[in-house]
Formats: sequence, C-alpha cells, structure tokens
Amino acid sequence: MQISQHLLERIESHAAEAFPGESCGFLTGRAGDDIILDAIPSPNRAGSKQEFLIDAALHLKLQRTLREKGQAVIGIYHSHPSGDSLPSEKDRISLNDQNLVWMITALSESHPPQTRLFGHLRGKSGSKSRPFDENLLQIARFVA
Ligand SMILES: [Zn+2]
Repeated sequence: MQISQHLLERIESHAAEAFPGESCGFLTGRAGDDIILDAIPSPNRAGSKQEFLIDAALHLKLQRTLREKGQAVIGIYHSHPSGDSLPSEKDRISLNDQNLVWMITALSESHPPQTRLFGHLRGKSGSKSRPFDENLLQIARFVA
C-alpha cells in the first residue's frame, strides 16, 4: 500500500491537532489499487475522547462524489493519543467487519508519530482473509 510523504504528514498533523482526543478520517483511492490518493479528515462523532466515530453523513457524501471519479473510500485512519500503535479490541472488531485498510497513528511525547497500516490481505483464492493479527501491511512512501 502506497501513500505520499505529504499525505502521511497531513494525517500525522491531524493526529497532533486532535490530541488529547483521537483524530479520524477517510483514505480514498481506486478500489483494487494499492495507492492512497487522498486523506479526508472527519469530525470525531464519538462521545468520549478515548475513541473515535467517523461522521456517517460525510462518509455517504464522500462515497457519492468519489464514485463519480471512479474512486472509493478504501480505508479509515485514526489516532491513538495513548501511544499504542496496535489496534484496540474495538478496532479489531470493526476491522473484521470491513473490507478496508485501517491506518493508526500513535502519538507519544518521547517519539515522533508512528503510523501503521492494517488490513485483510487477500488469500490466493481471492476470497479468504487471514486472521487479523498477521495483517500488518507495509506502508510504502513515495514523493508526490
Ligand atoms: Zn483505535
């Protein structure tokens, strides 16, 4: 999965702005491609600062406008102000339900932000996805 350095920096800045709450947003691209073309911030609709909930209305609106461009929401990003870059139990449940990549930026006072990407890797049959834990995807950066 590829993302430009510029987009990655934008996602990490959003995480810092939302601190001590969680940032969240959408990753867009062409379905089936492995390039993230844009990152669209979402208001965090969760009632608590320790979690996130993307804006459902914005999600629907985005899906409509992206479809016209032959694109789609291919992933969700959010931040972990606690510094943990692994998906929480709740993240795992959500991720297992969706055919999306999941980007998590961990913030900590002592390190630069750490961003990791998770998702279902398609098996050889094309249909079976492996258990979640094995599915840390590689983020390849490119300069746009
Ligand atoms: Zn999380």
